[in-house]
Amino acid sequence: MREEFYARINATLEDIRDQGLEKVEREIKSPQGPEISVFHKGEHRRVLNFCANNYLGLADNKALVDAAKATMDEYGYGMASVRFICGTTDLHRRVEKEIADFLGYEDSILFAACFDANGGVFEPLLRAEDAIISDALNHASIIDGVRLCKAMRYRFVNSDMDDLEKQLKHAGADGARTKLIVTDGVFSMDGYIAKLDKICALADKYDALVMVDDAHATGFMGAGGKGTPTHCGVADRVDILTGTLGKALGGGMGGYICATEKVVHLLRNRARPYLFSNALTPALLGATVKTFELIRDGDGLRQQLFRNADRFRAQMEKAGFDLLPGEHPIIPVMIGDAKKASEMAAALMDEDVYVTAFSFPVVPKGLARIRTQMCAGHSDEQVDRAVAAFTKVGKDIGLI
Ligand SMILES: *Cc1c(COP(=O)(O)O)cnc(C)c1O
Repeated sequence: MREEFYARINATLEDIRDQGLEKVEREIKSPQGPEISVFHKGEHRRVLNFCANNYLGLADNKALVDAAKATMDEYGYGMASVRFICGTTDLHRRVEKEIADFLGYEDSILFAACFDANGGVFEPLLRAEDAIISDALNHASIIDGVRLCKAMRYRFVNSDMDDLEKQLKHAGADGARTKLIVTDGVFSMDGYIAKLDKICALADKYDALVMVDDAHATGFMGAGGKGTPTHCGVADRVDILTGTLGKALGGGMGGYICATEKVVHLLRNRARPYLFSNALTPALLGATVKTFELIRDGDGLRQQLFRNADRFRAQMEKAGFDLLPGEHPIIPVMIGDAKKASEMAAALMDEDVYVTAFSFPVVPKGLARIRTQMCAGHSDEQVDRAVAAFTKVGKDIGLI
């Protein structure tokens, strides 16, 4: 029996490899940043990084590192407790209030990751007589969270408002007590922004609640970096907002849910990833307090991020590349063929540009791409160097 188990594991791994889906991790030997040291072809090389979620370039920000160190000196290293036993410091509450205040909610609740926030949000709030109406391209953590909840499930075609309306009608016909529409604020494979204005209008029409996971937007999208609800002019209509500290907000780790005080209080009592998992470390919280200072004062960083995105987009288009249209600093370079996309990413690494190719099943068949992500920390020279490398490699493999 055990032998058969291990044979099956081997067969599955071979299968993953045969399909070209094996993920191999590359080791970095420097802080995360616009330029990093990686081990490539037998040597450490400095390469330009265009695939981190480090939108504002805060992952190696000195003020954040200093704040983390100072907090560790004062509060020590670990909490060794869940929040409700002896794992809540004044810093935990301070950060929760900071997040809620920044995003315009009554309160927020921290999790070890946004994955846990999404995994734990639905089950305490909804019952079998309720309905969740979820975008088909929502993040895996939302899909898993929905699975853990007994509510009726409806899925609408990505950003298809006709289908959303159809599913809302279905849910109504099925007698749903509460309807909750759930969407990512930004769909990260395309860099497309959810049609939150239209979603909220439908939510009004069908008396539904709205939840947005704004992991790829908080800190830089919308006025003041307040995210896609602000970008779409519906910040006061979104009932529940989830997000991560692991992307633009410093890139450390941790997730959160913003909602009314009562909803947050119920989650503190019932959300399983919160109740049964360790509290965030003080160093992380100290750095997060600093992060919000920088974000509140962050128009300069945000302008630089979008300037970089405009510069990259304009030059890549001029060079003849096929880019998905958009306004988000995720800029997918469309390749089509999966093998060609991974060849291109490998060739770019030889040119000291680190990017990642995405193919089926992460994106539809035939729509393989290299997903580039801009960073406020990139200089004009670095953006230009990346475009030059793309142009050289694109010509070499006959793409442009
Ligand atoms: C990255 C991401 C998450 C997961 O965030 P973590 O804090 O890293 O767990 C959840 N939802 C979306 C939309 C994301 O992009």
